[in-house]
Amino acid sequence: MVTRIDLHCHSTASDGTLTPAELVCAGAAAGLDVMAITDHDTTGGWAPAAAARPDGLRLVRGAELSCRWRGPGMEWPIALHLLAYLFDPGEPLLAADLARLRLDREQRAEKIVDRLRGDGVPITWDEVRGYAAGGSVGRPHIAQALIRAGLVHTTNEAFASRWLGARYFVPKADLDVFGAVRAVRAAGGVPVFAHPRATVRGRVVPDQLIADLADAGLFGLEADHEDHSPEERAHVRALANDLGLVVTGSSDFHGTHKTVALGEFTTDPAAFEKIASAATGVPVLG
Ligand code: AMP
Ligand code: ZN
Ligand code: FE
Ligand code: FE
Repeated sequence: MVTRIDLHCHSTASDGTLTPAELVCAGAAAGLDVMAITDHDTTGGWAPAAAARPDGLRLVRGAELSCRWRGPGMEWPIALHLLAYLFDPGEPLLAADLARLRLDREQRAEKIVDRLRGDGVPITWDEVRGYAAGGSVGRPHIAQALIRAGLVHTTNEAFASRWLGARYFVPKADLDVFGAVRAVRAAGGVPVFAHPRATVRGRVVPDQLIADLADAGLFGLEADHEDHSPEERAHVRALANDLGLVVTGSSDFHGTHKTVALGEFTTDPAAFEKIASAATGVPVLG
């Protein structure tokens, strides 16, 4: 029997649409053997996911950290996402970083809503905050309000440049990526660079930066992801090989905020075992 491993999934603890409990049940129903819960800048889904974990599903507790890198002579930093697996959620420095990012997400979302309202868009911060339901707020929650107001039909449309993609874009707080890699390691976690070559999302970092991050403690690269073309996946694989980094693949499932299915992209068991063995923060459950 093949082992199916999906190491990047979001719940209502951030901008997914399944609760953490629904997420682990959906993972088991989709035939996954291993699933990671990786909400944006929060570990808020860990406890409910663990409590609802079906027998036979192994659960990796993680998060996806909002990071930036500003190269020499660059006017604007490049935003990047770092998956952090199996870190100690009580480690104070990393926990404080995450709390700061979440607070800024609220202030930033309120700013975006203010700007939309200033142009007559009939949505409110209360409505958007309601969609986030106490979790880490993200632009998909604002997209949900734009859909409700009848201004766009899909989340994807809400990310177009005339809406959240550019016209109403407000940057969010993020962590310097080298500091984040060290903080995750210091908390016993394993850092993996999420969709590192996703040019559809905007600018991507140079290979040399990934080599420098590997020297700083980066453990792996996510190659198989819907936002990578086949060429980009092959490039990421080759780079990981050169640098001795582990390769992962995952759905980046967001429930109905995206069209990708659980387990649509998966990780090799050997890569998963390396990640699990390298972590000292919290164990894989199950
Ligand atoms: P934020 O974290 O608030 O900047 O919002 C970005 C999040 O929205 C990412 O986690 C994406 O996965 C999600 N998202 C969903 N649909 C899109 C889209 N079409 N373009 C960009 N991000 C999207
Ligand atoms: Zn997201
Ligand atoms: Fe991401
Ligand atoms: Fe993600």
